[in-house]
Amino acid sequence: MKYIDLHTDALTKEGVLSVTEESLKKGGCFLECFACFTPHGGLNETLKLCNKFEKMCSSSGYRWVKRAEDLRGEGIHAMLTVEGGEAIEGDLKNLHLLHEKGVRMMTLVWNFDNAIGGTHGGRAVGRTSTAHPVLRAHPERSEGSHRLTDFVLGDSSVALLPQNERRPLGLTPFGREVVESMGELHMLVDVSHGSDALFSDVAAWSKKSGIPFVASHSNARTVCAHSRNLSDGEIKILADCGGVMGLNFYDEFLSSDKSAAGQKSALIAHISHILKVGGEDVLALGSDFDGIPQNAYLKTAADMPRFLEDMCEIFPPRVVEKLAFSNAERVIREIIN
Ligand SMILES: [Zn+2]
Repeated sequence: MKYIDLHTDALTKEGVLSVTEESLKKGGCFLECFACFTPHGGLNETLKLCNKFEKMCSSSGYRWVKRAEDLRGEGIHAMLTVEGGEAIEGDLKNLHLLHEKGVRMMTLVWNFDNAIGGTHGGRAVGRTSTAHPVLRAHPERSEGSHRLTDFVLGDSSVALLPQNERRPLGLTPFGREVVESMGELHMLVDVSHGSDALFSDVAAWSKKSGIPFVASHSNARTVCAHSRNLSDGEIKILADCGGVMGLNFYDEFLSSDKSAAGQKSALIAHISHILKVGGEDVLALGSDFDGIPQNAYLKTAADMPRFLEDMCEIFPPRVVEKLAFSNAERVIREIIN
C-alpha cells in the first residue's frame, strides 16, 4: 500500500537516517514531506536546507512536488516544507522567497513562541515581538520533550517570562498576515507544535476562507496526555475544516509503554479514537522519522508495509488506505494547485 508522510526531519539530521531513498522505496512511499528544521531559527540556515533538498532531488530519483499536477506517476515524490515560522524572521518577503524556493507547507511555530504565534502548552519564551528569538535547543534534541530549562539562551536580549506571566498565545497580528499570505500562495498551514489558542485562530481563518489546514505530526491528547497532541474538540474542528492530522511515531506522544507491542497498541488506540471523534477523513501520517528517537515498533520508513498490514488486521483496509494515502493527498492536491 502506498503512503504519504507529512513530516520527516531527515533533511536536518546527520548520520544514520530512518528516511533514505532506499528505505522509502522499501516502505512503498509515494510522497515524503522533508522539513527544513533549524533549531537556531533564521532564514539563511533554512535556505541552506532548501539548497540541500534541491541537490538531493537533482542527484536522486526523487520527484519534486511543487504543484498538484506533480502528484502523479511512479517513484518517490518529495515536497519541501519548513518547521518553525521563525525561518521567515518576521518578514513576509521571506515567506514569498521560501515559496519561490519550493516550500509548500510551513509549521507556524516550533517549541517556543515566535513572531507568528504561541507554542504548545503555553510555554511562552522570550518576547513575541522579537522577529526570531535566538534560542538554541538542547543538543540532545528530542521532539516535543523540551521544558524551558532545555533551552540555552543565545541572546541576552531574549528573556524568559516569569512563570505567572506565561499565557497561551494565539496568532499575533503578524501571524494572521502570514496565514493569509500562505493561503494566497497555496501553501499548507501547519499547526503542529502550536498552542490551543493558535489552533483556534487558524481554525477561524480556515472556516472563513474555506481553506483546510493540517496538523502534520500530532496525535490524540485524550489517548496520550501531551500538549503536542490535539484535544477532541480540535480533532473535530480540524475534520470539519477538511484538514488532516498526521500520526506521529514519537513514543512520548503515543504511550508510556515504550515496548514494540505497547507502541503498536498505542497507535491502534490513537487511530480508533481519532476515527471516533473526527471520522475517517481526518487521519493521515506524520512519522517524524529522524526528528525523534527510534520507535521500538516502527524504526524506519522500510517498516511501513508491516505497519499498514498490521493496521489492516484491525481496521477496514479502506480506512487504512485513507490514513496512509488518500486523505493527505486530497488536502495537498487542493492546496498546492
Ligand atoms: Zn516537530
